[in-house]
Amino acid sequence: MSELYQHRARKRFGQNFLHDAGVIHRILRAIHPRADERLVEIGPGQGALTEGLLGSGARLDVIELDLDLIPLLKLKFGLEPRFHLHQGDALKFDFARLCGTPHSLRIVGNLPYNISTPLIFHLLEHAGLIRDMHFMLQKEVVERLAAEPGGGDWGRLSIMVQYHCRVEHLFNVGPGAFNPPPKVDSAIVRLVPHETLPHPARDPALLERIVREAFNQRRKTLRNTLKGLLAATDIEAAGVDGSLRPEQLDLAAFVRLADHLHARTEEHRPPE
Ligand code: SAM
Repeated sequence: MSELYQHRARKRFGQNFLHDAGVIHRILRAIHPRADERLVEIGPGQGALTEGLLGSGARLDVIELDLDLIPLLKLKFGLEPRFHLHQGDALKFDFARLCGTPHSLRIVGNLPYNISTPLIFHLLEHAGLIRDMHFMLQKEVVERLAAEPGGGDWGRLSIMVQYHCRVEHLFNVGPGAFNPPPKVDSAIVRLVPHETLPHPARDPALLERIVREAFNQRRKTLRNTLKGLLAATDIEAAGVDGSLRPEQLDLAAFVRLADHLHARTEEHRPPE
């Protein structure tokens, strides 16, 4: 690349550029894009994954925040009619604008680690439009996403993401695959939104509230942590043992608690 377009990686944008051809190839193989698909890449950076994604023949929308990378991306891919560049913040991007067909968007990104959790929550608001997501994340975050009840990794992130998606921890990637190398290990995760939710809650906002409250003090019993929301008798009535700690409860049990709280709230709602 010419001197003119040498880009200095910026910490505040979480820039760790992939340079290991073997890792790039492995990621593209896991995604396996096809020509008739709708791909979206978050944070294309200098285009490490972009080239292979476009090579599939699919339409590709990319969202990049760093203004300094825009000329480089235009230079590399601008002549390609299937390439659509959006400069801006993926956290504020309206993904519904790209496509109205249910379960069609395939989202990809080697994500800046500082925005990965809020970005996943933002994308889950459009879960119905998304077919799947492949992300490079901090390994520790992937472990939390893919966690099972009973362990220290099981918490709000695992529960709220597994409410919407099937989660697969695909493989780990060491710091040497990036330039500059990050201080932590990374991993590739696949999130596939459920076509039909396995445990639908009457009011997902109440589920979110219960889970947040429960894990605020994960060492305490449910009876204690949920005191402000549900009485001990309500917890038992939802078929949950109040002497357990939050990390011992699976998603279905949290949904039962949320539905119980929902029924309680409805009982106390004044008639219209
Ligand atoms: N995909 C490239 C790669 O694999 O080499 C770059 C990955 S780098 C870890 C993250 C990229 O996301 C950077 O290009 C950064 O500028 C961009 N980025 C950071 N915050 C963003 C945001 N809020 N919205 C969109 N892109 C963002």
